[in-house]
Amino acid sequence: MITEEERRVLEFIDSGREDIIGYLRKLIGFRTITPQENETAKGEDYKDFQNFIRSTLEEMGFDVDMWEIDASKLDSFPGSGVLKDRDLSNMPALAGKLEGGGKGRSLILNGHYDVVPPGIIENWRHPPFDAVMEDNKIFGRGANDMKGGIAAIIHALKAIQQAGVILNGDVTVETVPDEEQTCMGTLSCCQRGYTADAAIIPEPTDMKVLVAVRGSVYGKITVLGRAGHAEVAHPDWPEGGAVNAISKAAKIIVALDELNDEWKMSPEKQHKYLDPDIITPTIIHGGEWPVTVPEKVEIIFGSVFIPSTKDKIKEIEAKLKNITNSDSWLKEHPPKLETEGWQYGAEVKENEPIVDTGREALRDLSFEPELRGFGSLTDAIHLINHMGIPTISIGPDISTAHMADEYVDIDELMNTTKAMALCIMRWCGTGT
Ligand SMILES: [Zn+2]
Repeated sequence: MITEEERRVLEFIDSGREDIIGYLRKLIGFRTITPQENETAKGEDYKDFQNFIRSTLEEMGFDVDMWEIDASKLDSFPGSGVLKDRDLSNMPALAGKLEGGGKGRSLILNGHYDVVPPGIIENWRHPPFDAVMEDNKIFGRGANDMKGGIAAIIHALKAIQQAGVILNGDVTVETVPDEEQTCMGTLSCCQRGYTADAAIIPEPTDMKVLVAVRGSVYGKITVLGRAGHAEVAHPDWPEGGAVNAISKAAKIIVALDELNDEWKMSPEKQHKYLDPDIITPTIIHGGEWPVTVPEKVEIIFGSVFIPSTKDKIKEIEAKLKNITNSDSWLKEHPPKLETEGWQYGAEVKENEPIVDTGREALRDLSFEPELRGFGSLTDAIHLINHMGIPTISIGPDISTAHMADEYVDIDELMNTTKAMALCIMRWCGTGT
């Protein structure tokens, strides 16, 4: 049931439609592309973006803290995904806090402002940073993932203020970099001490309540052979013959497929909202010369897994050991497994109060209040695991995230803003 007070706030959101659209278009115009692994953010757009948010929040009475993240100083632990060498300079994090007027529950509203690269520009109907409007949609990189969500948070809070509603609990707005690579922006907010009784990240979720995300790990398996002339016969390897690293690597790739089948069937890998664990070879390098038996192959892989998977690396190692033990060469020359930046999955219980708050807001806006999972991960991993903050996401359609012609439907942007407003008022309490 929408109360009279809530109805007034929703009306301010409706009458502010043009402002919300204009604000999001401005946010899309900042080119805040996540730098590649070994790169540093170039240009002023990241700082300009954060300064723009800062001035909005300051005008609204927030106390704003903005800082540069030194990855080498972040506390690193299993599942944290911390890459100590990553240079995050020029991509500040920001946390703005508005103290509540009473003793309500506190809330973090978090959004990442980095966006994945636009890819091949010619594939875009409209330039990716021009925020062109067409068919009731705003096109641009980050439109739904997730500058739309950031605009929604801010305009939900604006409408609450315009309606003269005083929130009882504290609200902290966090806008963070590097979610698309490492999630170290949000981790930095956590380690700087920002906490709350619950958190919402308006990532795109097709207007459903996101309660579970999978963890991920990336790595490399190096398989060694022994070089030799490819067009002459060789004795067995113990007698000094050549060994084809590509043939050995093929065995390993087959073993990884078996691993996927095992996970698919395993009762331990079943999850109500998520697909079972999976490992995918994504890049392969091998061989040196057309007439030389290849002596080295590198298999690069990614693996995603449900939150209850605590040590994915150990599971991959065990399978490699199996295959290694069945091959005399590999037994003597075991493949080397190297991983980096593994990040844990996360989930909130269905009966967490913030989940109910999210569902009820959606129901009152005439959406099916469904729960869902996401096969990849979000910044929720740190809020949930590192800080113990129950965290959900609610946001617009995800289908064009990371694609050419990414867009957000304006009605969904408005509904996300309304869902945020209802969640904020109901969670924090009003009027004391
Ligand atoms: Zn995102």
